[in-house]
Amino acid sequence: MTRTIALAGNPNSGKSTLFNRLTGSKQSVGNWPGVTLERKVGRLRQHPDVAIVDLPGVYSLSAYTLEERVARDYLLDAKPDCIINIVDGTNLERNLFLTTQLLELGIPVVIAVNMMDLVRHQGLTLDTSLLSRNLGVPVVEISASHGSGIDHLTDAVLRGHTVPALLPYTPEHEAALAAIMQVVGTSNRWIATQVFERDEFVNPRLPQIARVQEQLESIITRREDALDDDAISIMAAERYTQVTNVLPGSFTSTSARSLTLSDHIDQIVTNRWLALPIFAVVMFAVYYIAVTTVGTYVTDYTNDVIFGNFVPNHVAVWLSDIGTAEWLNRLVVEGIIGGVGAVLGFVPQLMLLFIFLAILEDSGYMARVAFIMDRAFRHFGLSGKSFIPMLIGTGCSVPGIMASRTIENERDRKLTAMTTSFIPCGAKLAVIALISGAIFQGAWWVAPSAYFVGMAAVILSGIILKKSVLFSGDPAPFVMELPPYHAPRPSVVLRSMWDRSWAFIRRAGTIILLATMTIWFLANVGWQHGPRFVDDLDNSFLAAVSGSIAWIFAPLGWGTWQSTAATLSGLVAKESVVGTFGVLYGVADVSDDGAEVWGQLAASFTVLAAYSFLLFNLLCAPCFAAIGAIRREMGNGRWTAFAVAYQTVFAWTISFIFYQVGIAIRDRAVDGWTILAVVALAGIVWLLVKKPARPRRAAVVASIGSEATA
Ligand code: GDP
Ligand code: MG
Repeated sequence: MTRTIALAGNPNSGKSTLFNRLTGSKQSVGNWPGVTLERKVGRLRQHPDVAIVDLPGVYSLSAYTLEERVARDYLLDAKPDCIINIVDGTNLERNLFLTTQLLELGIPVVIAVNMMDLVRHQGLTLDTSLLSRNLGVPVVEISASHGSGIDHLTDAVLRGHTVPALLPYTPEHEAALAAIMQVVGTSNRWIATQVFERDEFVNPRLPQIARVQEQLESIITRREDALDDDAISIMAAERYTQVTNVLPGSFTSTSARSLTLSDHIDQIVTNRWLALPIFAVVMFAVYYIAVTTVGTYVTDYTNDVIFGNFVPNHVAVWLSDIGTAEWLNRLVVEGIIGGVGAVLGFVPQLMLLFIFLAILEDSGYMARVAFIMDRAFRHFGLSGKSFIPMLIGTGCSVPGIMASRTIENERDRKLTAMTTSFIPCGAKLAVIALISGAIFQGAWWVAPSAYFVGMAAVILSGIILKKSVLFSGDPAPFVMELPPYHAPRPSVVLRSMWDRSWAFIRRAGTIILLATMTIWFLANVGWQHGPRFVDDLDNSFLAAVSGSIAWIFAPLGWGTWQSTAATLSGLVAKESVVGTFGVLYGVADVSDDGAEVWGQLAASFTVLAAYSFLLFNLLCAPCFAAIGAIRREMGNGRWTAFAVAYQTVFAWTISFIFYQVGIAIRDRAVDGWTILAVVALAGIVWLLVKKPARPRRAAVVASIGSEATA
């Protein structure tokens, strides 16, 4: 009689390597019925009556991914005679999460702890008999790639085993699961755990479930209310408790070192309470140092001395020496040097920012942040996966938006593509640095606040949009490897900094150059019986066109044609906002020491209006390149239009509320605008707290590793 053994384990646990060891060359590869996932079946070497089926690598048996669905359906329907659960010995806690599920299926299990060569290399020995006693199933040490322990494993499997005993949960949870099993009429505890998680994929196996839905809900919500958490998280926590109960004493350290330095750092950095404050402090420091302190010093020099004084003065003299026309002279000095120079002036700050970000990425910290953000985001129905595009978007939104492609769930992908550009990109950093330096004299809070405003906009939009039917639904669970920390490598950091900075510099020489030249012409040519150079910029085409829509921004405090023109030019590229101001206000009347470069700009804004301007430009429609990226990810024009409209209306509303409420507080006076702003604020609060369009099944499991070690 043929016996069937299923091989189950996490991705990268060494399943394929073990499968090849067990089966030798006699194996067939096809597809799982109905799906194009590789299906490998082979015969145990020397035992042709034993078939081995290689299941897809999974972290859990919940049905979030195709792999998980295939693995669980096979285990439930084909009922193999035994499961070999291969676990990665260097990552035992995380791997045993799946084990806790396999042990509940009512199928004999043999655990193969793989990568034992690496475990020993770390100076650890595994007490297999203790672990075996704790788990109630045979445990065999192997090294699939070295071929050691394979015979022991084969023996253990051939010996045949009984169904493992169930590991206990907390008494309250046991009671809830027992109640569920009774209500739905199953003896399979794993099915009960899925019902507890409101996993509808098990429903077809439970004919009477529809009739008992209300009873089930009350069992589940009672637990949720008692623990103030969602069912999926509760279930995950229960499983982790099982894992932490069976693990102690399994490993003994031969070199007196069990927790690595990385583990120690993670205990603090990913700690439930400290993680977000630490992240906030880190990002604050990054923006503060890059934009406000060291960065300003260098940028002031480039702006004031090099591009504000030295270059324009020498070029102006040189141009008139060689006899160029007056207008060409001015185009070069005011248009090109004023515009492009203003943008290039911010390169030092940008380089510093990129260095810091690259250090955080290369050291392994940013991987932790994605994990931390997953914990935070999931309360709002977003996944930590959404944070990766935002991380990439701090360089440029275009690759950031493109990175949203890795999110499987379509609604989450769209939501992420829509909100990624809220996080300030390198180009917006120039705008932030300009406003922070020129109008706030480098006040400590301005630059970091821009980052947190972006983050808040993502979260607020996540909450608001998730409540509409367009985006409702659960995020897919987020599982990632946390690489050990290591010292950032200078070559990697410099390379990353340079790639991102160079992209910025190259744009300054191409698209920004074109944009500022165009702006210069539009700002200096007007209609006086035909196109003519005008003495007063207020008579220019640019003033006429921008002025005609400046009223839109008047309620935000900056309804001048200049600010409107700068904002519009931001659609071409966000650096153009700076470039346009450079053309309009920049080098025009620089005093000899150059210190006054942005004096005229500062004079045209109140502090409240300046921050409102910054808010709007941070949050409104991104540049055309990013809109194009959104278009590609959304796949159609209507979604793209919706995204851009949402961003712009959101930006306008936030700036409006900020400015009008700010004015009211400053002047201690309330007018019609104040009332409108308060109504808008109430509207946003309503959107945040209103009932979702569909009861939201709470989010995410997973993100294992640190959870278990912390
Ligand atoms: P799968 O994703 O579970 O199929 O994993 P693979 O069989 O593809 O193995 C993942 C990686 O781990 C490969 O690079 C293997 O060479 C490596 N690997 C597998 N088993 C061992 C082992 O026992 N020791 C070591 N050091 N590496 C292993
Ligand atoms: Mg494989």
